Amino acid sequence: MRGLPPSQHILPRGDQVLDASTPPRIHVLAKPTGAVCNLACEYCFFLDKELFYPDSSFRMSDEVLETYIRQLIETHRTPQVTVAWQGGEPTLMGVDFYRRAIELQKKHGRPGMTFENTMQTNGTLLDDEWGEFFKENDFLIGISIDGPAELHDAYRVDKKGRPTFERVMKGLRLLQKYEVEHNILVTVNRKNANHPLDVYRFLRDEAGASWMQFIPVVERINEDGLRLYQEGTSVSERSVTPEQFGRFLIQVFDEWIRNDVGKIFVQTFEASLRNWMGLPSSGMCVFEETCGLGLALEHNGDLYSCDHFVEPRYLLGNIQETQIGELVASEKQRKFGRDKRDSLPRACRECDVLFACHGECPKNRFLATADGEPGLNYLCAGWKAFFHHVDQPMKIMAMLMRQGRPAWEVMRVLGGEEEAALEAAFAKAGRNDPCPCGSGLKFKHCHGKRGSEGTQRAEAKTSTALENTRNG
Ligand code: SF4
Ligand code: SF4
Repeated sequence: MRGLPPSQHILPRGDQVLDASTPPRIHVLAKPTGAVCNLACEYCFFLDKELFYPDSSFRMSDEVLETYIRQLIETHRTPQVTVAWQGGEPTLMGVDFYRRAIELQKKHGRPGMTFENTMQTNGTLLDDEWGEFFKENDFLIGISIDGPAELHDAYRVDKKGRPTFERVMKGLRLLQKYEVEHNILVTVNRKNANHPLDVYRFLRDEAGASWMQFIPVVERINEDGLRLYQEGTSVSERSVTPEQFGRFLIQVFDEWIRNDVGKIFVQTFEASLRNWMGLPSSGMCVFEETCGLGLALEHNGDLYSCDHFVEPRYLLGNIQETQIGELVASEKQRKFGRDKRDSLPRACRECDVLFACHGECPKNRFLATADGEPGLNYLCAGWKAFFHHVDQPMKIMAMLMRQGRPAWEVMRVLGGEEEAALEAAFAKAGRNDPCPCGSGLKFKHCHGKRGSEGTQRAEAKTSTALENTRNG
C-alpha cells in the first residue's frame, strides 16, 4: 500500500487534479449495507455502529455508488484498482447492486485499467446466482469461518442465537463449485485460540483452503457496555489473550513450516517474510511503519480513516461533498497515518522485532509499558513471542529467496535439522532412559536397539545434516 516512486506515477485522465500529496493507490472498504448483517456474531464490533445512523435505511443509493466508483478511479494513478466490498453483510444488497457496480467500473474506467472486486462475506446467503456472478466477474471472496463446527459456532450465530456452521460451509462449497477464487478469514478468539491445530488442519484438510488469514479478536468494551469507540482498557471475555494469540500463531506456524510452505498461504506468515526480506511493503497495514491508506466508506458516502475507526472523531467527510482524493490527502488523514509511527512508546522503538511488528495496529495500543508509558499494544507479548519464534526459519526463507530458490526448500533444511537433533539425542541417551523419539518406551527397547553400529551411523549423519544447515 505504500506509494510508488514519483517516476512511476501514472497521470490521471480524470478531471480531478492530483498532486504529490495524493497517494497513487488507496484501499477503500465500502460498506453498502453499513453495519447491517443477517447474523449476530457475538464479537462483531461493527454491529453497534448502526447507532451512528439512527434513521438510516442502510442501503447505498445509486447516486452514492456512482460517485464512489468514479472518484475511486480518478484517485488512482495505477492501472489496477481494487474495489473492496464489506459490511455488515454486503450480499444483503442483492446481486443487481454489484452488476451495476461492474457497469459503472466499465463506464468510468480509463483505457487499460483493470478492476479487482473483492468481497468479505459470511457466506450464508450465497446461491447459484451469486456463484455465477462472482465467477463471471472474477471476484475474490473472503469467507469467515472460525474452525470446525464446535469452534465456529461458539460465537458465530444468527439473530436467534442458532449455529451457522452448516450454512457457511454450504456457501464455501458453492464458491468451490463455481471455482471462485476465495480465502478464509478466521477470527482468533478466546475459544478457538486454544485449538490452533484443529482450526488449521480443518481449514486445510476439510475446508480445502489454500489461502487463510488469522485476525485477533480484541474487543474493547466502553464504559456504557457498548463497543462504539476505541476507548478504555477493558476487553470482552471473547477477546483472545496476548499469550493465547502468540501460542496460536506459533503452533500453526510450526505445522505450516514443516509441511505446507508454498502450498498454503497464511497472510501473517507471508507479510512477516516480506519484512524479514526487507521488501518495501509487508502487504498488511498493521505491520507497516505508517498507515492511513485503507479507509472505510459508509453506505451514505461518509469516509472514515479506517474500518476500525468508524466513529465521529475519525470522519473525514462525505464523498458527495469532497473528493476522495482530497480527503485521503488531508492533513487529518496524513496525521492519522503518521501517528502509527510517531506515537510508538520507547519499548517499541527499542524492540528487536520492531522491523516486523511496527507496534501492530494503533487500535490495540491501550496498555502501558513497564515504565508507565502509554501506547503499548495489548497483543505485544503474543507478537513478540511469535516473531522471536519464527526468526530462524524466516532468515532461512529470506536467504533462499535472495538466492533465487523457492521458499519451500526451508522444509528440507529444517527437516534435516530436526532429524539431526534427534540423532544427537539418540547418541547421548542411556539404555534405560526414555527414548528421545517420544514413544514412551525405554531407549533400549526402541531406537537404542540399533546398537553401536547404528549409533556411529547416526553421529555421522548428524554432523552432515548440521553442516548442510549451516551452509544453507
Ligand atoms: S489503524 Fe490499524 S487497521 Fe487501520 S489502517 Fe492503521 S494499522 Fe491498519
Ligand atoms: S513486539 Fe511489542 S514492543 Fe515490539 S514492536 Fe511489537 S508491540 Fe512494540
